[in-house]
Amino acid sequence: MKILVVNAGSSSLKYQLFDMDKGEVIAKGNCERIGVDGAVTHKRPGKEDYRASVALASHDDAIALVLKLLTDPELGVIADMSEIGAVGHRVAHGGEKLRKSGILKDEDIEYLYSIVNINPLHGPPAIKGIEACRRIMKDIPQVGVFDTSFYGQIPDYAYTYPIPYEYYEKYRIRRYGFHGTSHRYVSGKAAEMLGRDLSELKIITCHIGNGSSISAIKNGVCIDTSMGFTPQEGLPMGTRSGSLDPSVIPFIMQNEGISAKEMDDVLNRKSGLLGVSGVSSDCREVIDAANAGNDRARLALDMLIHYTKKIIGSYVAEMNGVDVIVFTAGIGENDRWLRERITADMDALGVKIDCEINNTCPRGQATDLSAPDARVHTMVIPTDEEYMIALDTLSLVNA
Ligand code: ADP
Repeated sequence: MKILVVNAGSSSLKYQLFDMDKGEVIAKGNCERIGVDGAVTHKRPGKEDYRASVALASHDDAIALVLKLLTDPELGVIADMSEIGAVGHRVAHGGEKLRKSGILKDEDIEYLYSIVNINPLHGPPAIKGIEACRRIMKDIPQVGVFDTSFYGQIPDYAYTYPIPYEYYEKYRIRRYGFHGTSHRYVSGKAAEMLGRDLSELKIITCHIGNGSSISAIKNGVCIDTSMGFTPQEGLPMGTRSGSLDPSVIPFIMQNEGISAKEMDDVLNRKSGLLGVSGVSSDCREVIDAANAGNDRARLALDMLIHYTKKIIGSYVAEMNGVDVIVFTAGIGENDRWLRERITADMDALGVKIDCEINNTCPRGQATDLSAPDARVHTMVIPTDEEYMIALDTLSLVNA
């Protein structure tokens, strides 16, 4: 069966078409500048990429273009839309109700609309992508895969914030967690690599990229994660602050005379690696600056290492141990130096990597980095959220 995976953003729509019998991507691409002017990149393995400027007024136009490209006699990979067995949609937020991937029904879309207030950035574009596909691909099942659903079993004492309970009742302010599809994929892959069942492992997954989060998975159930009500909590990120003393926020607002919206911009777009280093939100550029002697770049990296260690340590305590630590996403998969720094001086916990393997393992390949005398496996596993979405979609339509 062929499964189309769609990830709709406010002005972009990424797609991948999987041939699930072969477990391969047969075409993928990105529609960009939707609602502005419009452009598309369409890729097929082993063939030249196709790039074009095409007017894209809406997400409906983008989906229609994707289907046209996929079925095009020259650029396409399928003869007809009916070859697509189902569409899997990446949806960042499923709120408290949508706790499992599922075939989307009218009431699910209505529920997604009802939680746009707690997911204002990613909610509306995801809904637009789903509605466009439902309109244009009428008979093809549309499946929602929610980043938050991996966190549906976090206990109440770990997801509730210590503020007046009425704010939870009134606004559903609580920890939801994000990147769940990535954490789910790499934790499953880690168990597979060890030839063991998830139900007998304690795993800490570190998704460190432009946005970063860490999750604790005990016996196959995620019991805690570092992102919270929004993807802002936890580690310092490319431009996001991560956790800080909450009283810093009203202090800055009062002293700088800035509004809640401006403060949100400071915390989301001007903080993290960028805010501290003053150099860049891109980890590679911060590392280059630190190597050239920039002390604020050094500080920003030391902070990322410090907070990562701190969260790993707290999850070891929460789970009463750990069997596997996994690194994934842009920084986690590629930055060997940072992996070495994060895992250094953790031998008391049984964590010890083989620096030779860490320095030479091929990029893009899942690898166990542990030293022979380590009690805990440390792994690098490339994430594949789209494949996870395709697998969920396949199993739902087959069921
Ligand atoms: P997003 O959260 O947007 O999906 P990614 O997971 O792609 O982000 O991660 C982007 C981050 O990965 C950037 O900070 C980038 O510098 C970092 N990165 C990518 N490649 C490397 C590399 N070879 N070495 C170090 N960092 C890298």
